[in-house]
Order: sequence, then C-alpha cells, then structure tokens
Amino acid sequence: MSEKKSAAKLLEEKLLMQRKNAGETLTVAQIKECDDFCEGYKDFMDRAKIEREAVIYSEELLKSKGFKEFTKGMKLKAGDKVYSVNRGKAILMAIVGTAPITEGVRLCAAHIDSPRLDLKQNPLYEDTDMALFKTHYYGGIKKYQWTTIPLALHGVIIKADGTSVTVNIGEDESDPVFVVTDLLPHLAANQMTKPMSKGITGEQLNLVIGSRPFKDDEESGSVKLNIMNILYEKYGITEADFISAELEAVPAFKAKDIGFDRSMVGAYGHDDKVCAYTALAATAECENPVHTVVTVLTDKEEIGSMGNTGLQSAYLEYFIHDIAEALGSDGRTVLSASECLSADVNAAYDPTFPEVNERNNAAYINKGVCITKYTGARGKSGTSDASAEFTGKIRRLMDANEVIWQTGELGKVDEGGGGTVAAYIANLNVDTIDMGVPVLSMHAPYEIVSKIDTYMAYKAFKVFINN
Ligand code: MN
Ligand code: MN
Repeated sequence: MSEKKSAAKLLEEKLLMQRKNAGETLTVAQIKECDDFCEGYKDFMDRAKIEREAVIYSEELLKSKGFKEFTKGMKLKAGDKVYSVNRGKAILMAIVGTAPITEGVRLCAAHIDSPRLDLKQNPLYEDTDMALFKTHYYGGIKKYQWTTIPLALHGVIIKADGTSVTVNIGEDESDPVFVVTDLLPHLAANQMTKPMSKGITGEQLNLVIGSRPFKDDEESGSVKLNIMNILYEKYGITEADFISAELEAVPAFKAKDIGFDRSMVGAYGHDDKVCAYTALAATAECENPVHTVVTVLTDKEEIGSMGNTGLQSAYLEYFIHDIAEALGSDGRTVLSASECLSADVNAAYDPTFPEVNERNNAAYINKGVCITKYTGARGKSGTSDASAEFTGKIRRLMDANEVIWQTGELGKVDEGGGGTVAAYIANLNVDTIDMGVPVLSMHAPYEIVSKIDTYMAYKAFKVFINN
C-alpha cells in the first residue's frame, strides 16, 4: 500500500531542488555498473600517470576501435573515425556525424597533465656523499605534501645523437623509488613556526637518488659518478642528456578503492584524468553520431594552457579547420556552430574544511557529475561564464537521459579560485560549459573521487556526444 503524500510534500517535490546522495537513489545494479566501470579507470590511472602515457593509452584504444590517423587533405564521410597526436603529449579524435558539418561539432576537452615535480635541466648533484636531483614543481602544489612519499620517474630523454629513451621507474613492485626528505620533528622547531607555504620551499624539493660511491678493484669515485654510471648502463645517457629530457617525478602509489564500502577511488592525478578517461571511453565507443564528435585530451592545463601542446595554442582550432575542410565547409563556420563540454574536475565539499565552501553552491561527493557555469577568481575574473541558454540546454539533456548531476562553484566568493580550458575554447566562438567530477584533496599526491560521480561523468559525455 502506498503512503499518501501530503500537499506540502507534493509541492516540495514540484518546486524545490532535490540533490540526494546517489547511493540512496540508484539501484544496487546501477551502483554495480558504476563500480565496474571504475575498475577500468583504476587500470588507466596506473598506466597513464603522465600526459605522454595517457596519449599512448588513448592511441592504442582508439586504434583498437577502428580509428585511423588523420592527415590533412584526407577525405571524410559519415561514420569515419580519426585521431591525431600532437607531439606525443596531446591527442585529438573525431567521429564524423550524419548531420552536415555546418551544424558544428560536439566537443569534449579534458587535460592529461597533472601537478608533479619536473627534474631541472641540470638536475644531478652530490652533497655530503648523497646524490640528488633538483626539481622544479609543475602546477599548483602544496609543497610540504610532496615530501616523504615514494615517487616514480616518468618521461623521455633525447640523447646527443637524437635517439629517445623512455623512462618509467618506480612503478614495478621490484623497482626502487625516490623520495624528497623532510626534517625530523625533533629538529623542526624553527620550521614548524613557519606558515605552511614556507615550511618546505621549492629549492628543498630535492629527490634522493643514491648514496654509494663508484667503486671498482682499483679506485673509488664519487656518488654522483656512480649514479651516472648506473644511468649510462641502463639508458646509455650522459649527464648532458638531461638538458634535452622531460622527466617527471610522480607519486608511486597505485589507484585503490577508498573506504570500507569501496565507494571512492584514491589515485594520483584524478585532476584531470578522471574526465580524460571518461571522455575518452565515451568517444571510443561512439558509433555513427548525428553531430560530428571531437574530443581533445590536452597538455599544459595546469600551467595555464601555454605552449604548443596547451589549449591556448592553435592546434585544436587547426584540427577543426582541417576536419571542416575535409567535409566541404570551413573552420570558422563549424566552430561558431559548435558546443563544448570543458571536462574538468571541481572541488568536492570536504566536511573537514567546510569554511572554504558556500554550502548551497558547492559540489558534493556522490551527488553526480558537476555542471559549473563559471569558474574564475574574485569578480568572475578569467572565466567564460556559459550562457543561461546553453546551460539550460545541457541541463535538459542531462535530465532527459537520467544523468545524475549537480552544480557547484569552486569555493566561496573571494576564497581563491581557478580556471579551466573553457575560456580558451569559448574564445573560438564555441558555446562552452564546465562539467566534471568533484575531487577531494585536489592537486595533492593522492586525490579522491566517487565511483558514482565518475560513472556519471562518463554517462554525461556519452549523452552529450550522441545528441
Ligand atoms: Mn583540471
Ligand atoms: Mn588542476
């Protein structure tokens, strides 16, 4: 027998916004679907810690789904699937739709770079019988968080002869790892009086990499020489080769379930690989869309989207121009009719730090993918601020397809702020809105997302590109 609802209850359902923990509203089977999806995500997180690895993973997946490498001048027709790699650090993919290209593309943009410690170009030194690497941090980090945790080294070295060596050390169970030291509390009286921003400085983020001197039967050398000798034997490199290297120290942690209920995933680099993976998965399995789909997984978002692999460069624009021309139109016409989900994470409300959020406009773990109309700082500075019309369209689309979503902005007004690639894509005259997964401890070496929210991001991207 169903319980009769009161007039107030009915009116409440009609007029007031309901945003519940999706763990309450979803069925057991639906929750299992979210959990199962995240098994693939965890595997991706262990295999794609840096942008170059995310590109390799994506290219392999796309090829297995029938995507072909795009070249300018290639003839395209509805149903064709193509991709293009930008300098090994960003990847674009497209699926030609049945509608005329003049109706624009459905664009998803996520980034695959994450905060980390890059090695300086002359990193190796010895001090007091210890060998260390100097680092230069990349992106916004709280420096003290990067000490006393196991770090792995990923990247490439271009040798003097032009050949390239790929480095990935610290991820295998049998691999050594590297670490940035911190002071023992016994001797930290002075350090502990400093503000957290100064407790560990950028120049103290030095990686410990060895402590034994070179030795053979005849003579002994330095610790630095011994490390260089090991590196020469392993990679064939000399000290000068670091100058043309991109080596990134990233947490050596594996992605793991968080909580007794396994409802969340802890990993390095959810920002923004959680949106990159979900957008990639949605795109890779898309077949015969109405509108042409373009998804870009970009580099350099964490340092302001600068450089030729970041979205302030023209590479995305050029790709859309080339696709437009291959289909008998032009880039300007296509871009002006296009729509974009700027797929990036948002801050999740943290009950331990409630003071930085305004509760009515914060994103919460398990309340679904977050739609953010604007980001920016202070008086919305630096944001594209999606129109009410486009926001309304996305909202209707999500509701019509049972995507669980919420809205939230990045913290209280004047508490801080941040930006995404949305502004750069909107600058191309594209209707753009931010959408992504709420993250706890964003930019920390180990971040947390909800499995349900992650799945809802995937579902949202899928619905967007197929409509
Ligand atoms: Mn991000
Ligand atoms: Mn970020």
